[in-house]
Amino acid sequence: MIKYLDLKAVTAMHGKEIAEAVQRVVEGGWYLLGEEVRRFEEQYAAYIGTRHCIACSNGLDALYLTLRAWKELGVLADGDEVIVPANTYIASILAITDNGLRPVLVEPRIGTMQIDDSLIEAAITPRTRAIMLVHLYGNCAYTDRIGDIASRRGLKIIEDNAQAHGCRFVGSEQATKRLTGSLGDAAAHSFYPGKNLGALGDAGAVTTDDDALAAAIRSIANYGSSRKYVFQYCGRNCRIDELQAAVLSVKLRYLDADNARRREVAAALISGITNPRITSPSLDLWRDAVWHIFPVLCADRDALQQHLAACGVHTLIHYPIPPHRQECYSKGQLILPHGGLPITEQIHREELSLPCNQVMTDAEVQQVIDAVNRF
Ligand SMILES: *Cc1c(COP(=O)(O)O)cnc(C)c1O
Repeated sequence: MIKYLDLKAVTAMHGKEIAEAVQRVVEGGWYLLGEEVRRFEEQYAAYIGTRHCIACSNGLDALYLTLRAWKELGVLADGDEVIVPANTYIASILAITDNGLRPVLVEPRIGTMQIDDSLIEAAITPRTRAIMLVHLYGNCAYTDRIGDIASRRGLKIIEDNAQAHGCRFVGSEQATKRLTGSLGDAAAHSFYPGKNLGALGDAGAVTTDDDALAAAIRSIANYGSSRKYVFQYCGRNCRIDELQAAVLSVKLRYLDADNARRREVAAALISGITNPRITSPSLDLWRDAVWHIFPVLCADRDALQQHLAACGVHTLIHYPIPPHRQECYSKGQLILPHGGLPITEQIHREELSLPCNQVMTDAEVQQVIDAVNRF
């Protein structure tokens, strides 16, 4: 049986170093807001290429804290609109509605599965204040056109980088080569165990170059306090613990190598899958991707999934129900385009995620290819 992602094997790749890091924290006797967190923040900011990294409890909180801090700083107000791709994990949209802001859903392009930048301007209204870019499946959602729209219209860009750690945007000029997480005004990262950079539990981070934003986020994540027992904001507890930070510092050292192996596996899947009933991503449109997910489209998706299971290949669907069809958003909280969301619905109907990760062997990759081609 080929697992979708064998987390035990992922941890075992660096098991000794991880165990040493855990032991160091256990024996050190300091479990929150300490040296491990400070060190990870410094390393991750340097890796992404931003001035600040604020590590926190998880990816949803990282998104929430960023928007909340902009509200506290007067950049956003209740009822302001945030443009967001319609095909995303629910957390992107929850962070917007939890802050009393309004999500404006925009369709993706089918080829990249990222927000269609030609549709963004038409979605802007006098209440629009920000664009949330989601680098879904580990492909890059940012384009020079989006950067241009945001600067001309005075909009903030927040990146949801939960699925794209280490993804490098290659702009029209080679000189603009930068990592996702440093392309907008702020970025939220998730270190959920299954992500490309994963902890052994929940963890997340915000990266930004904005000093005031960073200070507000750090404070809100710690009860609204930056000085002990003095509370500037009605904050939350969104802290990361020392154990997770120590583990992440180890795993960060191997992220580029892990992503390089994911790229090899993805390239092999793309060239190996020849079944005309299945559409693989095109390498042209996914050249920057770090392949958190390898999504194929198939009109008979559920039958394909059953066939692969019978062949011993475990797959997942990201995601079976789009956000605008979820019960939690049945009360008109979302702003939808007039034509509806046919591309989003097609992706949710036809997408299947094949195993694609750094712990797969070449033989396993070939087994996946053969099984797909036999469908
Ligand atoms: C995983 C994920 C999140 C949420 O991260 P958590 O750490 O699970 O809270 C947000 N957005 C996207 C696109 C994700 O994939």
